[in-house]
Amino acid sequence: MTIDHGAIAREVEERFGDFFREKINPTAAYRDQTYTTFDQETLREMARLGLIGFTADPSIGGEGRTWEEWGHVLEEIGYLADDSGLPMLLSYRETATNLVHHSGRQGRPHLIERYAEPAVRGEAFIGWLYTEEKDALNFETNVVRRGDRYILNGHKSASTGGLSCTAWIVYASTEDGQDTMAIMVERGDPGVTVTPVRSLGLRSIGLAELHFQDVELTEDRILTPSDGLSHGQIFINERRVTGAAWLLGRMRALIDRVIEDTQPKVRYNRRLSEFDTFKAAIGRMYMAVERARSMAYRVFERTEARRATMGYLHDPLVSIAKYISTEAALEVADIAQRLSGGHGYFEPYGIERYLRDFYGLVPIIGGQPAIEAEIGARVIWQRERRLAAQRKQLQTMHYQGELV
Ligand SMILES: Cc1cc2nc3c(=O)[nH]c(=O)nc-3n(C[C@H](O)[C@H](O)[C@H](O)COP(=O)(O)OP(=O)(O)OC[C@H]3O[C@@H](n4cnc5c(N)ncnc54)[C@H](O)[C@@H]3O)c2cc1C
Repeated sequence: MTIDHGAIAREVEERFGDFFREKINPTAAYRDQTYTTFDQETLREMARLGLIGFTADPSIGGEGRTWEEWGHVLEEIGYLADDSGLPMLLSYRETATNLVHHSGRQGRPHLIERYAEPAVRGEAFIGWLYTEEKDALNFETNVVRRGDRYILNGHKSASTGGLSCTAWIVYASTEDGQDTMAIMVERGDPGVTVTPVRSLGLRSIGLAELHFQDVELTEDRILTPSDGLSHGQIFINERRVTGAAWLLGRMRALIDRVIEDTQPKVRYNRRLSEFDTFKAAIGRMYMAVERARSMAYRVFERTEARRATMGYLHDPLVSIAKYISTEAALEVADIAQRLSGGHGYFEPYGIERYLRDFYGLVPIIGGQPAIEAEIGARVIWQRERRLAAQRKQLQTMHYQGELV
């Protein structure tokens, strides 16, 4: 299905535009400077407006809109809301809620009632805890069975929204160290410690690290007892799509900001915005947006189509879309610095914040260098497979005497 982006942009403006202008934008710089995240009341208001649960199934109170639409909506949220942390947080929450719902449908319906439905209503906030200072194939965070209890110990180094989460999907090694499970942990569980983490940018997301010490969990908390890595991959894949999406809007907003900042400037008796070099730089910024957009839109459509026919599969094009959007955003932020003089660098003008925020997408979900390596490895593997198939075909033809 091809989406009319203009129609989505109008919908976002009509439904959420005033909320962003009145509640989000005036306090964005404050949140950035003080590492303040969105309070529970604001999050609940977002749920009431439909910013939470946009893609969630109507059976749990969601709007049941498509992933493709969500990608376009996130772009517009990124454009209208002057806080990169907002679409980042919303997209994490959306995916986490859908993932719990997905697990609930695999024969664990109590998870839907306890976590997914309240999350869509804005009464619960689910985080996703995967990363730690260890290889994902060998998580140090582990679960040991003791009688009818599961005991969780370990540490997770980053949780988007961790400061406001009420529960988390936690990935942990199983007792024999041979497998990974995914299990729900709640903020009030004894032995859970949440500590704020300060970062270069995206400071409004409420970033936190979590420690687990002898946290006792019951069987009904388990999302999946095995193959947690495939479970986590669903999240990783969707996160890469959404990261590619909201960056588009933030880049467009930055271009507007730079043009607006330059308007009053006169240099050598001429308006700075009339210099051809200025226009060319704006042109380069816009072309970077369009480059990222062409890949992102392709991936929104493809993700939606694959979801319907094949379920959630790892798609290398999704990684490429996240990679391209991130590199484009860094290019746009770099040009913005060069065009804006001191205003680009000084905090009160709000231009440097974009650069710091955009850098947050570099390490996220595997990191840019890891994506390069993943794509390169795939290309090499595909070539080897192709050559092997050709060799096999030649051998068969030899046997049949076709080549002599
Ligand atoms: C703002 C922010 C929010 C986050 N939120 C969450 C969250 O909610 N939940 C969560 O679980 N995690 C979260 N993370 C963590 C994030 O997902 C990790 O930082 C990311 O997965 C990279 O892991 P790492 O930091 O351990 O990097 P490392 O694995 O230590 O990688 C270091 C460097 O090596 C590169 N590298 C790694 N593997 C390869 C390879 N095979 N080939 C080539 N290069 C490679 C990486 O790209 C990177 O440049 C967040 C991070 C940020 C910045």
